[in-house]
Amino acid sequence: MRNLLFLGLLMFLFSCSKVGKTNQTDNLDEKTDVEIPAFSVDSAFAFIQKQVDFGPRVPNTKAHQDCANFLAEKLKSFQAEVIVQEADLRTFDGKTLKAKNIIGSYNLEAKTRILLFAHWDTRPWADHDSDPKNYDTHILGANDGASGVGVLLEVARQFNLQKPEVGVDIIFFDAEDYGAPDKFATEETTHSWCLGSQYWAQNKHKPGYRAKYGILLDMIGAGNAKFYREQVSDYYAKYVVDKVWNQAESLGFSAYFINQTGGAITDDHVYVNQIGGIPSINIIHQELNSETGFGHYWHTVNDTMENIDKNTLNAVGTTLLHVIYNEKP
Ligand SMILES: [Zn+2]
Repeated sequence: MRNLLFLGLLMFLFSCSKVGKTNQTDNLDEKTDVEIPAFSVDSAFAFIQKQVDFGPRVPNTKAHQDCANFLAEKLKSFQAEVIVQEADLRTFDGKTLKAKNIIGSYNLEAKTRILLFAHWDTRPWADHDSDPKNYDTHILGANDGASGVGVLLEVARQFNLQKPEVGVDIIFFDAEDYGAPDKFATEETTHSWCLGSQYWAQNKHKPGYRAKYGILLDMIGAGNAKFYREQVSDYYAKYVVDKVWNQAESLGFSAYFINQTGGAITDDHVYVNQIGGIPSINIIHQELNSETGFGHYWHTVNDTMENIDKNTLNAVGTTLLHVIYNEKP
C-alpha cells in the first residue's frame, strides 16, 4: 500500500467511483445475550510467525506457493468453505504473476454477510530501506501482510468453535504489494497496486456476491500502532468506521484506534469499494509525522517479527470479534 499524497489523485480516485457514498448511521447495539469468544493472541502470533517462516511471499516463488497451500489448508481445517481464485495478473513492469486469492466462507446460507480481508503477499523490494543496497531485497512482511492474515486466521479458528450469527467471508488477497516503486511511479502506474483485489472486484468468487460491509486489516501488529480514520474509509463507509472505532473505545483500545482523520491510502479497500461496490474500511497503522506516513519498518528489511506486539494484535482481534458477533442477521 502507499499513501495518496496528491489531492489530484484523490479527486481522480473519487471521481471514478462506481458506488455511492454511504452515510448510513448504525447504532452500536451491544447485545448482552451474545457470548463473544476470547481472541487468542498467542494463536494469532503463531500464525504470523508461520507465514514469516516460509520467507518472503513474493508471487512466483516457492515460498509464495507453499504459503498459499498453508493458508487454504488452515481455513479448511477451521471448517471454512474454501475457494482459491487463481489469476494471471500483469504487473507495471510487464511481468505475469501467478496469483491466488484465498477465500474462506462461513454460514453460506446467511443473507447478511461481512467481508474481512488482508493481503498475504509480500513486497519484492525494500525500496524504503535506509540502505540503498537493500533495495532489491524481498521483504519478510511480518507486519505488512502477515499480521492481518494472522489475526484473520485466529478469527476463523474462533468461527469454527462458535459460529457468528451472520455470514462471514474472509479473503486473503494476493499481489497487493507489487506496486511501482516511487522512482518508476507515473500516472499510468496508479493502479499497479492491489492487483489481486482488483481482479476479485471484477470477477467475484460467486456471481452477484454482496456483503453488507468490509473490513481490511493491514499492518496491524506493530507495538503502539496508531489506527487513524483513513480517508477513503470515511468517504465510502463512515458508519463502519464509527462502528469499529466506537467498539474499540468501549473495550478500552482508544490508544490504538484514534478517532482522528489520517491519510488517504491506496490499498485493497479502494477497489473493493469502487469496483466491488462493498462499503469497506481499512484498519492500518499510520505515523502521520513520519516522512512516509507509515511506521519505520514499512517496505524495509526490518519488517520482521521483532516489530510484532501482542498487545496490538489483541486490540485489533478483540475489537473485530466484538463487531462480528454483535452483528444481527
Ligand atoms: Zn506494503
